[in-house]
Amino acid sequence: MKYKCQKCGFIHIGDLKDGYYCPLCGTGIFDFKEIESDKKEINYKRVYVSPDNPAISRIDEKCIDCGACANTCINTVNIRYKNPNKPICINCGQCVLTCPTGALVPKYDYNKVLDLIDDQEKTVIVMTSPAVRVALGDAFDFKPGEFVEGKMVAALKKLGFKYVVDTTFGADLTSMEEAAELKQRIDNDDVLPMFTSCCPSWVKYAAIYHPNILPNLSTCKTPIGMGAIYLKKFFAKEKKIKADNIVVVALTPCTAKKYEIENSDCDYVITTSELALALRENNIDFKNLENKTFDELTGSSSGTIYGTSGGVLLSALRTYYYLETGNDLTPEMILINNKDFYKEYVIKINTKIIKAATVYQMGNLEKLLSIKNEFVFIEVMNCNYGCIGGGGQIPMPIINMQEILKKRSASLLKQDKTAKIRYPYKNPIIKKVYDNYLTAPLSKKSMELLHTKHKSLSKEFS
Ligand code: SF4
Ligand code: SF4
Repeated sequence: MKYKCQKCGFIHIGDLKDGYYCPLCGTGIFDFKEIESDKKEINYKRVYVSPDNPAISRIDEKCIDCGACANTCINTVNIRYKNPNKPICINCGQCVLTCPTGALVPKYDYNKVLDLIDDQEKTVIVMTSPAVRVALGDAFDFKPGEFVEGKMVAALKKLGFKYVVDTTFGADLTSMEEAAELKQRIDNDDVLPMFTSCCPSWVKYAAIYHPNILPNLSTCKTPIGMGAIYLKKFFAKEKKIKADNIVVVALTPCTAKKYEIENSDCDYVITTSELALALRENNIDFKNLENKTFDELTGSSSGTIYGTSGGVLLSALRTYYYLETGNDLTPEMILINNKDFYKEYVIKINTKIIKAATVYQMGNLEKLLSIKNEFVFIEVMNCNYGCIGGGGQIPMPIINMQEILKKRSASLLKQDKTAKIRYPYKNPIIKKVYDNYLTAPLSKKSMELLHTKHKSLSKEFS
């Protein structure tokens, strides 16, 4: 039997006994309604967390065996349906956000990073992902969605990072490369639609369950992948630091990035919730810090909106439009249609109609795959509303989750409306990078440093 809590949406599997309360919102059994059951679903009450999972861990003493994590995995990530006898983790950490006792946590790496900061030989650089700055405030009594970029930078400086740079720079590089790749695929009638590749959970999901569509995935590395190689190869030279002594840390909303960097130039990933812990443990009074600005390497607001669903697609489309016409793509030139489980974006370039789509959560992606050929470009993100809903964010009360995510999204989109530099190709730092080092998007050097190959994982996980 399967019952849904009418207050918060939690799904209980199994019989409902007297005295049972919803583990998420505390309501009693009278607020549960029976819903259609799917026998395939439940072979495990809670998600299996392997000891070598690079992204998440479970503190067993805190676990009350409530099953919320398994329900999250089944209902939003959709993984365990595929092979209930061998659950596979795509490292997204969505279960962390719905665990009522805090038993599930990101795999903590922040103490290792703090130790490296103390090592005089090392230059520790942190790159900060956009979604962090609209969630970190939640841990320090700011209003949901409040944009705390200045305090976040100040806090990182207080912790002792030598350079605090912005992952929006890596996002701008990604948009430059991805837009050029999209143009090349469209012009050459090559494999389409092209899917985005910056969500490691999605890339892993595709590699396990849909290896046939790997040629459709953009070959672009992620913003942290591009940012990290830039720091080690070029920034190190500019600053006259031995590349071996540079430690690159990505501050992300994402637990899956800890899996991604197993094959990357980025050395560590710490999440928003880890940073909040580090600040508390080091008695840093976040609320009263004076705002600071990034040291170097900032991006356009197209990079900032990478943190919310639709941002990656919009940023790449803007750049693609510029490559085709030499003009800026403005909001009134884009027709956006909200569909049941995805969003459709339509732009016109002379007589050509470009149709694209954004989708989040793998269950929705599965549905979109049946109509994928209607589009030339598809953004896929694993988490609710994109990275703002990442498993490494500050956990939110489940009952208010949708509202909080909307506020985080609005906060990032507001930055885009008021930014001085809105387009990746207008970012002077990006221009300098191509002039000095890479020549052009998709050049030999760019392909060597900023692109990757996606490998099937279907045999490893079968
Ligand atoms: S949600 Fe948390 S407390 Fe509940 S079974 Fe999973 S790990 Fe245990
Ligand atoms: S949507 Fe963002 S936060 Fe979630 S798994 Fe993908 S990259 Fe990580």
